[in-house]
Amino acid sequence: MPDRGNEILTLPGIGAYTAGAIASRVYGELMPAVDGNVLRVLTRLCEDGSDISKERTKKEAIAWMTDVMQSGVQPTEAGAFNQALMELGATVCVPNGEPHCGECPWQDACGAFAHGTWDQYPVKAKAKARRIEEKTVLLLQDDNRVVLRKRPNRGLLAGLYEFPWLEGYVGRKACVEYVRSLGAEPLHIEALPEAKHIFSHVEWHMKGYLIRLADAGAGQLSEGLLVAKDEIQRAYPIPAAFEKYAGFVQLGIGAEEVRKQMDL
Ligand code: SF4
Repeated sequence: MPDRGNEILTLPGIGAYTAGAIASRVYGELMPAVDGNVLRVLTRLCEDGSDISKERTKKEAIAWMTDVMQSGVQPTEAGAFNQALMELGATVCVPNGEPHCGECPWQDACGAFAHGTWDQYPVKAKAKARRIEEKTVLLLQDDNRVVLRKRPNRGLLAGLYEFPWLEGYVGRKACVEYVRSLGAEPLHIEALPEAKHIFSHVEWHMKGYLIRLADAGAGQLSEGLLVAKDEIQRAYPIPAAFEKYAGFVQLGIGAEEVRKQMDL
């Protein structure tokens, strides 16, 4: 585990807020942790009408707070400083309804308080309707291993591991063809329950199949990795979007049953 914020930020699934929270609270580094509460306080303080749903606004707020912490305030307890700012947003400069400006230590410096404009900040563009993506998730496993593949290093769930999936809802035949294209031999296939995962801008609607692979054909795959089931939790972070299917990883189908059901 790295102990510098900019290195923590390179870990899969860790964003600027989490990296700042860890670096400041655990290692005392002067690195901000800017969440929605902090953004609300800052935009009211400065009467800043930038759209807080934009990455650029968050980046500017982080850059400003980095400067405040490293060149201005230089708090002796970075973690407590970040926590105090978040608490100020959560309990005083509240998100719903009128902020409690009478209790706020920043009242004298606050533009929104001076001009009575607190209800105009923060500015957040109306979210677009979420796009719906349909997927067919495949739990490919032999006795002890399951197939995972690594997501790209950029974009949604960057660098995390996932079960292979096919675009759209596809039938058993297409799933079997895909498995064979990997260089593995399917022995048995059964449907899994449907699942849904909601991100900020997209919804995944998923159907799934559990496919038992023949051990002999599962040495080298053209795509993905064969991972020992008991290694997954330790070394292969699987995002919550696949949580429902991850629960089926231990579900094995006995050899006897496989022989009976070699019906593909
Ligand atoms: S004075 Fe009022 S609006 Fe300004 S930061 Fe404090 S609680 Fe928020």
